[in-house]
Amino acid sequence: MMRELYTQIIMDHYRSPRNRGELAGAEVEEHLLNPLCGDEITVYANFQDGKATEVKFEGRGCSISQASASMMTEKLLGKNREEAEAEIERFKTMMVGEEKFPETEDLAALRGVIQYPSRIKCATLAWDAFRRGLGGKE
Ligand code: ZN
Repeated sequence: MMRELYTQIIMDHYRSPRNRGELAGAEVEEHLLNPLCGDEITVYANFQDGKATEVKFEGRGCSISQASASMMTEKLLGKNREEAEAEIERFKTMMVGEEKFPETEDLAALRGVIQYPSRIKCATLAWDAFRRGLGGKE
């Protein structure tokens, strides 16, 4: 039942991605590949008064990689750089099975991916790209 709901959330983001599109000349622009699955993601962000006023992505690949990117744009919008880094860290921590997001967050749907280790990179791709774009560690 829960798994079905999670699949629905992922497919909803995959079919109707939030904040999809290019941001030409963005402050943050980073492209990453996941050769294991063939996923590709480019993330973009602009900051104003320290906060991310625009967060977008473009990409292609499996439903997990694209849905995760879509969820990430929603999560990081309005955050400053430090908060964005913290959210990325928190998500990466969830993807190694240590921290949980409340069931009410779409991101919780990606928790199920942990059971498929070869797909974890799909889920973290956009987040790794954003972190690299911020100039942080991967
Ligand atoms: Zn993938």
